[in-house]
Amino acid sequence: MSQHYLFVNEPLNYAYDALEPYIDTKTMEVHHGQGQKRYVDNLNAILASYPKMQSLTLEQLVVNVVFFPPEVQVPILNNAGGVYNHQFYFAGMSPTGAREPVGVLAQYIDRIFGNFDRFREAFFNEAMAVFGSGYAWLIIDRMGMLRIVSTPNQSLPPPQSFYPILNMDVWEHAYFLKHYGNRAAYIRDWFQVVDWEWANQNFMKGLNGDFFYGIGTSEVLQEYL
Ligand code: MN
Repeated sequence: MSQHYLFVNEPLNYAYDALEPYIDTKTMEVHHGQGQKRYVDNLNAILASYPKMQSLTLEQLVVNVVFFPPEVQVPILNNAGGVYNHQFYFAGMSPTGAREPVGVLAQYIDRIFGNFDRFREAFFNEAMAVFGSGYAWLIIDRMGMLRIVSTPNQSLPPPQSFYPILNMDVWEHAYFLKHYGNRAAYIRDWFQVVDWEWANQNFMKGLNGDFFYGIGTSEVLQEYL
């Protein structure tokens, strides 16, 4: 992803009703068509006042928050984080495809968690433990280790230490219309629509050291600071 200001709420590559019966149409309409649009609009509105930051990509924005002027750090964290996290979440679901891990990622999951069932249980527990709003993530760290972590609100895991493979939005708006307060049922449904081919592609990029490594550097920021 290399998009930058003006950000656009790109259409998903599947229809809002494509994840039925697991993720319902109305939830997708509201979540992407309204929720994600609001983050995009807010981010554009913030950057309109900071012309030098307009050339930064979405990844550079979310990784470099601590280097920005103090008054925009929280707005950028919330809104660039919101755009990034939601793009990643929506991209991680698919109406078709493998419903279990594939490729090298599948081997790593078995090696590190024992088997897919144990992985699912660990991810389920992490997602259930998020208090209030946030995300559960599968990431690969700098040592090449798979880890399950969670973050509050629209924060990301520490940017210098991870590459994202999958995330799951556990805010109530992601499931309330279908499941009300039953997050556990939503997590089980989400596992029915995970795009494991896409997850494996992310894993391979992370193994190769792509993406987050190197974009949180002073070199990147020189031109704007
Ligand atoms: Mn959301």
